[in-house]
Amino acid sequence: MSTGFEVVARDGAARAGRLATAHGTVETPCFMPVGTAATVKAMTPEGVAATGARLILGNTYHLMLRPGAERIAALGGLHRFMNWPHAILTDSGGFQVMSLAALRRIGEDGVEFRSHLDGSRHLLTPERSIEVQRLLGADITMAFDECTPFPAERAAVEASMELTLRWAERSRAAFVERPGHGIFGIVQGGVHPELRERSARKTVALGFDGHAIGGLAIGEGQATTFAMVEATVPHLPADRPRYLMGVGKPADLVGAVRRGIDLFDCVLPTRSGRTGQAFTRAGAVNLRNARHAEDRAPLDPQCRCAACAGFSRAYLHHLVKAGEILAAMLLTTHNLTYYADLMTAMREAIVAGSLAEFEAP
Ligand SMILES: [Zn+2]
Repeated sequence: MSTGFEVVARDGAARAGRLATAHGTVETPCFMPVGTAATVKAMTPEGVAATGARLILGNTYHLMLRPGAERIAALGGLHRFMNWPHAILTDSGGFQVMSLAALRRIGEDGVEFRSHLDGSRHLLTPERSIEVQRLLGADITMAFDECTPFPAERAAVEASMELTLRWAERSRAAFVERPGHGIFGIVQGGVHPELRERSARKTVALGFDGHAIGGLAIGEGQATTFAMVEATVPHLPADRPRYLMGVGKPADLVGAVRRGIDLFDCVLPTRSGRTGQAFTRAGAVNLRNARHAEDRAPLDPQCRCAACAGFSRAYLHHLVKAGEILAAMLLTTHNLTYYADLMTAMREAIVAGSLAEFEAP
C-alpha cells in the first residue's frame, strides 16, 4: 500500500481530503513549509508542528550535496536526523539544479553539474534522484523533471516537456514501493494549454500516486498560472492528490484551491519572516516601517501564534531593526501559522459548501 488519498468533501472543483502517509495523515488543502537544508529556517520542529503543519518539504539538491544522502541514511533517515516525526515530501532536485548549480549540462541521461558549494562534479539522473529520496526516507517522492525556463520558445517547451515524460517513466520504474510511501509525477508544458493537456494525459498513464503541476509561478503572472491549472486539472484523476509547486501568495492559494489543487509549497512565509514581512488578516505588513515604532497592538489580534499572543508591533519592529534572531523566529512562526490557518479555513469552507464566498482572511 502506497500513500492513500480520500476526498471527504467537494465544493465546485475544490476538495477537502485526507492524505495517508507512513508518518501520519495530512488534511488537505495543505500548505507545506519549506525545510530546505533539513530545517525550516528559524524554527524548531516543535514550533513547526505547533503551527499545525504535518507535512514539510525537503530539498534533494541541497541534502545530496550537504551533508549527503548516504550520510543521512546512515544516521537513520531524514525524519530522525532533523527530529521531525510527521510526513516529509522531497523535491526531485530538478528545479534547484537549474537555478543554483554551475556549469550545467543537460543530456538524455540527466543533468551534469558542479556544486554551488565547492565546485565538485555531480550527475543527477532520474534513477539517482529517486535513490537519494529513498535514502532520505521521504514519504512522498517527486519524479525527476526538467523545469523549463520562462519565457521560452514553444518548440523548446515541447522538447523539455517530452524529456520530462521520459524521465518520469524512468523515475516511476526506479521507485521502490514501500507501505505509506508514494511517488508523484510532474506535469510540465509551460504556458501552452495543449502541451499541459498532453503532459497530464501521458504522466497519468504512468500510474503515479499523485500529480504535481510544475514550471509555474516563475514570472508568467497569476492569470496565466490559473489558466494552466484549469487546462491541467480536468485531465488528472479525481482520486489522487494534486500539488501546485512553488505557489504562493495567499490569494494564489485561494484561487488554486477553487480550481481543484490540494497541496502547495512556497518559501514566501518563511523567507518573508526573515526580512520583516508578515501576512495578516488585514493584509501584508512590513515591520521595518517606522510607523510601528510605538504601536502597542499585536501583529494580528485574531492570530493564535506566540508572536501575536505576547508581543507588540513596537517590539517586533525593534527586533527587526536591531537584526535580532528572535525577529526571524517570531515572524516565521506567525507567517506559518497564518498559512496553516488559511488552509484550515478553506477546508472548513469546502465542507460547509461556502468556498465561493471565501476571501483570504
Ligand atoms: Zn500570529
